[in-house]
Amino acid sequence: MTSELVVGIDLGTTNSSIAVIRRGLPEVLDGGDDGLVPSCVGLDSEGRVVVGSPARNQAVLFPDRTVLSIKRKMGSDEVVRLGETDYTPERISSYILGELVSRARTTLRRDISRAIITVPAYFNDAQRKATRKAGELAGLKVERILNEPTAASLAYESDSSEASKILVYDLGGGTFDVSVVSIEQGVVEVLATAGNNHLGGDDFDALIVERLNLHLDEETKDDSHRSDRTVQARLRHAAEAAKKKLSTAPFAVIEEDNLKGSGRTPLNLSYELSRSAFEDDIQELLQGSLDEVTRSLNDAQVRAGDLGRVLLVGGSTRMPLVSRLLQERLGMAPHGEVDPDRCVALGAAIQAGMEAGEEVGSVLVDITPYTFGIRTRGDLDGLLSFHHYAPIIPRNSKLPVTKSDVFFSITPDQASVQVEVFQGEDPDTRNNTRIGGFTFDGLNENENAYEDGIVVSYSLNVDGILDISARERGTGKQISGRIEDALAARPDDNALELDLGDDPDQAAADAAGQLLERVKAVLEKAPAEDLAEIKRLAKALEGAVQRGDDEKADQVAGELSEILFFIE
Ligand code: ADP
Ligand code: MG
Repeated sequence: MTSELVVGIDLGTTNSSIAVIRRGLPEVLDGGDDGLVPSCVGLDSEGRVVVGSPARNQAVLFPDRTVLSIKRKMGSDEVVRLGETDYTPERISSYILGELVSRARTTLRRDISRAIITVPAYFNDAQRKATRKAGELAGLKVERILNEPTAASLAYESDSSEASKILVYDLGGGTFDVSVVSIEQGVVEVLATAGNNHLGGDDFDALIVERLNLHLDEETKDDSHRSDRTVQARLRHAAEAAKKKLSTAPFAVIEEDNLKGSGRTPLNLSYELSRSAFEDDIQELLQGSLDEVTRSLNDAQVRAGDLGRVLLVGGSTRMPLVSRLLQERLGMAPHGEVDPDRCVALGAAIQAGMEAGEEVGSVLVDITPYTFGIRTRGDLDGLLSFHHYAPIIPRNSKLPVTKSDVFFSITPDQASVQVEVFQGEDPDTRNNTRIGGFTFDGLNENENAYEDGIVVSYSLNVDGILDISARERGTGKQISGRIEDALAARPDDNALELDLGDDPDQAAADAAGQLLERVKAVLEKAPAEDLAEIKRLAKALEGAVQRGDDEKADQVAGELSEILFFIE
């Protein structure tokens, strides 16, 4: 019965998307773009209704004939004026739904007439009715209005039968919602919701735009650019692109030529924004969101420790600071591997499939089960250590993934650095597994090059190939390497990184070095009860050699040899 197909629609404040179950699996339909349709409706210069990107692109230039964020008005009596005509929020939303359905019809080459549409959990009856009405105006039979956090939970957990509590942190373009839900055998109940109706990506963009305006104020000794709509439109666009770049890279360069059309001196913008400066800007807003997280947990009477999972929903959760802050606050790494701006639509499609009695598989994504990082000098338990682990690709990242970060040599005149690649989750690299490394030498030894830092980039694909590169920013000098089987399981227990120091007594170090080689060789076959003891002794030996304490080194080496003898 092919006409029975029910689509799932995420009708978002900023972006909307549509998904279906195809061959048993949920799938977002992209119409040649990335599957997201800006929730924006406008009239073009000829007075025709345009929806999605074309409307989004004209929004700042023609605010009088473009409408954004109509979702905020759903359920109210307000109308919006486009050109000469007043439109109800339902009518505007119906245009967005119509656009989504028409892409589904084109992609699937079949008629679509039934849908499940999602809404925020806090939507009241009037808002839900208005959403239903919008669907009807678009010619759809709305089978169900589904809560967004419910849909997101289904995208992750539909096939798990165990009961669990989930926190859904949804940071989109203009709104922030947090919900605590319980799920059992595909049935989801929302226990509590909190949030901030005016917090999202637009605010982060605005902070960058303000930086750019301040920069232009300074450059031009004038502020006419601030009232120039075209300039502001371009800055907003550039700011959003830079923000997205900073989600995976430590720097973004914003370059806009001829910001102001004519004249003999064109206004050119060139501005470099670092992730750390951007994170300073948004820190306070994100801290505010954490208070709402706490509030929702309190309202639901659920302790952070009792959560089965934390889910990241909404495009803005791609900013790495979001995961970091949540991990700090809740003590567990959040999951964002199902595309955060598509998982609500996917979940709505899963719900549709389940209601149709279909066997629906969960969303399939390849993820890395380990974190990959680099050894640096940094804080370890409050002390400065050379074994600090700086993660670059966090575990559970969707593959393929490319991430980079900036690091600095320890002294300005340093001619080389070690790039050592580790796999594992411990803050101390010695408890993780070293899977490769190389020396980056011939570095520029003048002070400025040092201050620019070295960008280390990791790219991991589904086959477990990890490409690593290091680039000296000041000079552009670059070096790269590859690890073929980065995803292969390596028991963490066997990680033992030993460092005999820079200039120990050579003979003692050689003897100890040989012993430690033997230690590494037996780690894999050592029985568990011996393993801890071997590691303890190896560490003690390392310490004694580093301190130049020969007596102690001898004693420990004796004990160690004895154990090794039995195992070898
Ligand atoms: P909504 O649910 O509000 O309709 P989305 O979940 O699609 O919206 O989120 C849109 C927001 O996500 C926008 O502000 C966009 O700039 C932001 N966003 C998308 N991708 C990224 C990224 N890689 N890094 C940071 N922000 C992003
Ligand atoms: Mg959303």
